Amino acid sequence: MGFFADSLNRIQPSATIAVSTKARQLKAAGRDIISLSAGEPDFDTPQNIKDAAKKALDAGKTKYTDVDGIPELKAAIVAKFKRENGLDYKASQVSVGTGGKQVLYNALLATLNPGDEVVMPAPCWVSYADIVILGGGTPVFAETTLENGYKLQPDALEKAITPKTKWFIFNSPSNPTGAVYSADDIKKLTDVLLRHPHVWVLTDDMYEHLIYDGLKFASVAEVEPKLYDRTLTMNGLSKAYCMTGWRLGYAAGPEPLIKAMCKLQSQSTSNPSSIVQWAGVEALNGPQDFIAKNNAKFIERRDLVVSMLNQASGLVCPKPQGAFYVYPSIKGAIGKVSKSGVTIATDEDFVTALLEEEGVAVVHGAAFAGSPSFRVSYAASTESLKDACTRIQRFCGNLK
Ligand code: PMP
Ligand code: GLU
Repeated sequence: MGFFADSLNRIQPSATIAVSTKARQLKAAGRDIISLSAGEPDFDTPQNIKDAAKKALDAGKTKYTDVDGIPELKAAIVAKFKRENGLDYKASQVSVGTGGKQVLYNALLATLNPGDEVVMPAPCWVSYADIVILGGGTPVFAETTLENGYKLQPDALEKAITPKTKWFIFNSPSNPTGAVYSADDIKKLTDVLLRHPHVWVLTDDMYEHLIYDGLKFASVAEVEPKLYDRTLTMNGLSKAYCMTGWRLGYAAGPEPLIKAMCKLQSQSTSNPSSIVQWAGVEALNGPQDFIAKNNAKFIERRDLVVSMLNQASGLVCPKPQGAFYVYPSIKGAIGKVSKSGVTIATDEDFVTALLEEEGVAVVHGAAFAGSPSFRVSYAASTESLKDACTRIQRFCGNLK
């Protein structure tokens, strides 16, 4: 019996945020730390987007707005879905929130009742399961394997669905594995979903533009229009537009769901920052060529990191085709002892000892429900990536 809500005891703090915060604190205390833990581009926000924010500020766009977005931003989002995904949405089907995280939170909190199950691939982003738990629902993990490139197979999805399943959360390119599903891969999953008309789809397309090697992005309702009426297509500006700190995300889907999300948001944060929304209009309507330039850098960095990590003893690092993460397996390091005498029984032991002994911060696979592995974000300079991977090689080389 305590002061705090029981629901708080059922969830963990966001591990990606916790590790990044710890790395920042150690750095501030003078330790030599390389942090590859945060899921954010190291590139600055493009100048035209910053200018749009300054202009909005000077023009006095500083008042409350409609709770779930200004009409200009909703129009830009409607145009984006048509242009890039071939999806037809009306402005009344669009919801804008303070980051993709709030949009997901709204969708789940507005729909979950005790006993409802939410299927998600494992490994998956840290926040899905805990938001489901906060909403009173039960996360159900559908396992993926390194051998299948961490892509969910139709039979694993089929097995995870029960009469209680309310949502299936899908995420391609994936955080944390970088796995990208082709339209054909998605079709195999949507065929399963067509057999289960009670299951809704929450597709998290946050990493849509961060896709490499000539692969083409595909979104669920685009691949299977029959699922349009039970799909929430979510996206945001944090990653491709280098706007993590600005906090802007959005989704489109059936109107009753969008209204319910708006109702919830009207009793929590109200509208996302008015200034940021105007910057979002410019981000979506303005030039997009910087994305390809950034991606060329991400590809170079990915190749460097994958090659160097595969040279570390005990690690197996697949080469993903999207996002800015790699997800090496540490199966070969389990049971060994580090230089300072730590037995590596779990991936959490591995990342803790790595931070202590070599000053490299990465996130343990357990946080993503995918062990034993760890996530490296390669959204960092080539120089610091080389340094970090050299340290990881040394750490692994010292395991006995
Ligand atoms: N989905 C995924 C898969 C993510 O990695 C993130 C990242 N941080 C989000 C959603 C939420 O992003 P944000 O709240 O910054 O828009
Ligand atoms: N999503 C990013 C990550 O996975 C940012 C932190 C968070 O919100 O979890 O690192």
